[in-house]
Order: sequence, then structure tokens, then C-alpha cells
Amino acid sequence: MDKMWAGVKASRAKGAEFKQVPLPKINDNQVLIKVKAASICGTDKHIYNWDNWAQGRLKPPLIFGHECCGEVVEIGKGIKGLKVGDFIAAESHIPCGVCKQCRMGNMHICDNLVILGVDTDGIFAEYAALPEVVCWKVAKTLDPAIASIHEPFGNATYVVMSGNVSTKTIAIIGDGPTGAFACGISKAVGAEKIYSLGMIPFNLDICRKMGAHDTIDVTKDSRFIERVVDETHGGVDVVLDMAGNQAANDSGFKMLRKAGTYVMFGLPPQPVTLDISNYIIFKGATVIGINGRKMFETWYQMSALLSGGLVDPSPVITHRFPFGDFLKAFETATSTTTPTAKVVLMM
Ligand SMILES: [Zn+2]
Ligand SMILES: [Zn+2]
Repeated sequence: MDKMWAGVKASRAKGAEFKQVPLPKINDNQVLIKVKAASICGTDKHIYNWDNWAQGRLKPPLIFGHECCGEVVEIGKGIKGLKVGDFIAAESHIPCGVCKQCRMGNMHICDNLVILGVDTDGIFAEYAALPEVVCWKVAKTLDPAIASIHEPFGNATYVVMSGNVSTKTIAIIGDGPTGAFACGISKAVGAEKIYSLGMIPFNLDICRKMGAHDTIDVTKDSRFIERVVDETHGGVDVVLDMAGNQAANDSGFKMLRKAGTYVMFGLPPQPVTLDISNYIIFKGATVIGINGRKMFETWYQMSALLSGGLVDPSPVITHRFPFGDFLKAFETATSTTTPTAKVVLMM
């Protein structure tokens, strides 16, 4: 066998192709995995829709996709910590290992970062060649769909752990998958009260299932900032911003109490204006930016949360498709009429 099925961004245009491509060959520091499940990320939708970001970043043809789990079926000569038969989830940030950031323990923001399925062939395929450094062993008993979502779940884990939310009141802005994961993780690590803010009733319902105590549809409730500030006696202790836009920043900082912590993960589509005097300086607020997942502190935390069973993320996995329905899965995930959270391809 030398061919496999893969989801390919074949040309500089909207859409994707599902076709047969050559099986990847591994080098000494790589393993070959048989992909068991692959989850569709917002990034993959940008690539599929061929928006401005994708046009500036991608160089088709490319197998895209980066959220996956799989079984190790072949190992390179230099592999030290993995063996055939291991079940792994993949980190999407491939570090160089030698730059200053890598050497200072910040591999996740390596100066020469290569992103799986964006800068190099990804995992929407029956098989994928991965460097050993991005393979993380997970419990073999874990549902492959759940194992495949470690990467976005890790963003949420890094955000929640950076916010130090235990016993605190928190507002989670954004009702997409990372916002919903953040609700579940915050609940598991002992947040006192979780306000989940969003704009889509289908998503807010998932956030509630994941553990939010109060879900707020910001399009329907014009007085939510005053209410939250009042109920929390001056504002929430921590804001986790998974949305990232002008309105999110404005309501988030207004809901934050003095000396509170604002954790930013959501990427504003364009620069935003911040009232730094009132939002940060006079408030004595701490602002933290989050990119990726700590390698590998966040992954140890995820082992406890997912393999250890502290959080059940299954309400977020709303759709599963067999891999052969790749194009149908993308039509569904990018549909403007069918609401979805995580759409997972099962191999
Ligand atoms: Zn992702
Ligand atoms: Zn580096």
C-alpha cells in the first residue's frame, strides 16, 4: 500500500478536495501514526473558506488539519519515548528546539514555529508523519473523538490555569468550543461562579451543560454588565476572553473588578481600542496573553482533566462523520444555517 485518502487544500480557491495521495515517509525523528479521529478547528474553516488570513499564509497544495489522535504504527531510528502501538494526541506547534524561546522553556511560542496542517502537511489523512516532540500519549480507553480535541482543549486549559480561577467568580466571553471547554475546566478546578457570555443560543446551551452557572446572550440582555458587577460586589475576579473583539474587550474590562485578572486568548480580527487608564492602570488589573499550550505543562494538566476524567467534553462534540464524508463534514462545519460546535471525523 502506498496511497491513502486525505483532505487536501489543493488550490488557491475556496473549498478542499478529498483524494488519494502518497503515503508519508518518516525521517529518523518522526513517527507514522494511523489517524483515529480528527477534529475541525476554526483555523481549518479559514483555510477551507480561503479568507484573507489563509491567502496570506497557506501554500497549497497541502494536507490540512492539526487536531487529531492516532496509533503509532512506525517509528524512526532516533525515537526515544514512543513505541509502535502507543495512542497519542498531537500538539500542533512544532518547535525548533534551539532558539532562545525554546531554550527558556517557551517552546509553544518558538521563534521558528511550524504549525501542523498550516506550514506543513497535517492530519486530515489516514496516516500522518509527526515529529516525536509533538506526540503526547493518552489513555487508550479514551474515546478517539475526545482524544482528538486535546489541542483546542489545551488552549482553554492554558487560559483557565493562567487565570487561577479556583474559588473565584469568572466571566468567560465567547461561546464557541474553547469557551465551552473553559466552562468545564473552570468548574472542575473549583471556580465559584461562572458567567458564560455569547451570542448563539445553541452554543450557550452547550456552555451550560459544560458547567456555566449563568449564560448570558449579549444580543438580548442590554444590562448584563451592571447585573454581573452588582451580583459579584464590584466585578468578577477573572475574565477569560475567548472571543477577542472590541465589544468583548469593552464588556470584559467593565465587568472586571479592581485588581482582577484579564486573560486574552481570542484574536481580534483587526486592532482594537482599549481605555488603558480605566481598564488596566486605575484598576490595577493584570492582563495575560495566551498563545497555544505550555509545552508540556498544559499537557500534564490535560492528562488529569481528560484521561483522568475530571472533565467530560462530550457536549461540545456535536457532530461525528466517517472520514469518507470529509467534504460533507466541512459543508456542515462551515454552514451558516446548521449550528455546530466541534465536528469530528472518525477514521
Ligand atoms: Zn485547532
Ligand atoms: Zn525554537
